[in-house]
Amino acid sequence: MKEYSGIMVFAEQEDGRTHPIAYELLGKGRELADKLGAELSSVLLGHRMRREAEELIYYGADRVFLYDHPSLREFDVVRYKQNVVSLVREERPEIFLIGATLVGRTLGPRVAAALGTGLTADCVELDVDEGGSLIQIRPAFSGNIMARIKTETRPQMATVRYRMMKRLKRNPNRRGEVVEKRVRAEGDTGIRILKRIKSDGIDVTEADVIVSGGRGMRDADDFRMLEELADLLGGVVGSSRPLVDAGWISKEHQVGFSGNTVKPRVYIACGISGAPQHLFGMRDSDVIIAINKDPSAPIFRVSDYGIIGDLYEIVPALVEEIRRRDAERGRG
Ligand SMILES: Cc1cc2nc3c(=O)[nH]c(=O)nc-3n(C[C@H](O)[C@H](O)[C@H](O)COP(=O)(O)OP(=O)(O)OC[C@H]3O[C@@H](n4cnc5c(N)ncnc54)[C@H](O)[C@@H]3O)c2cc1C
Repeated sequence: MKEYSGIMVFAEQEDGRTHPIAYELLGKGRELADKLGAELSSVLLGHRMRREAEELIYYGADRVFLYDHPSLREFDVVRYKQNVVSLVREERPEIFLIGATLVGRTLGPRVAAALGTGLTADCVELDVDEGGSLIQIRPAFSGNIMARIKTETRPQMATVRYRMMKRLKRNPNRRGEVVEKRVRAEGDTGIRILKRIKSDGIDVTEADVIVSGGRGMRDADDFRMLEELADLLGGVVGSSRPLVDAGWISKEHQVGFSGNTVKPRVYIACGISGAPQHLFGMRDSDVIIAINKDPSAPIFRVSDYGIIGDLYEIVPALVEEIRRRDAERGRG
């Protein structure tokens, strides 16, 4: 039987467009494959995806296994699993990486179970040791320590958080091969999309500016004040977890360990203490500005600018000042 070798990346797509996490995984996958002297491949399932498959080569893949079929247009976990499992059995990659998105978190464990292998979920960094084993790094104990995990079974499978790895620069001169695979699409899997629920359109992971509110806020309606500031700065509103748990704002806005990891140019934390689980999700922001009444709040330890005071005075003052300057600029 073929030896396990190489790295394979699952390339997620939605509405025919590859999710950016696939490019991030290829960036890291390329680095590891070069260290191991191994091949980097990718698997893409969808309909009319040939161009997107070629893009994966420009971002680092040597080979792309393409499953193109109308039944794969939408994510159907049963059908996706069938095809991915049969490919992994055939190709025997030593490492198989999946994005820790909703799709990846649904597919990954099912594929691992079918293959009888382990899976390390939610990795934030990956490396290989001298023996060529994958080191899977992820937070443990609520983000207080970073665990380094190795797997004895093969393939070594990991899901990786979005926005943790760097994608390579697109290189349209890179050469590789797109291998069109026969699609296993037998029978009805019983999975139907009954309704698409539109999110409120906020994507904190892509925002350049985030104004986040925490338990220092007194009322759910006060998010309007933060929204006003975010609008003026061309940004979006984020939140710490307790306000999401309280139903004040939707989960899409949550920043932190069990929410989104963000890397905006500016992160403004209003009434957020800076618990490790919150810091985990925003500490890589370019500039962090904290507004907090308590000078000993841990958030100040990671901030570039700290404003000690009441957010109910400071946020409206900032809004007024930005408006004044905008008006001046408009007149000038
Ligand atoms: C497994 C696990 C996962 C978790 N995941 C997340 C996560 O993803 N994201 C997350 O955020 N948390 C997460 N938490 C919760 C986390 O531990 C903290 O409880 C939470 O981040 C605290 O939120 P906070 O800073 O808004 O509230 P608090 O810690 O209560 O802080 C409120 C702050 O507001 C300040 N303040 C009060 N009034 C004002 C005012 N008028 N003006 C200015 N400042 C004021 C106070 O001084 C205080 O510092 C997780 C916890 C666990 C155990």
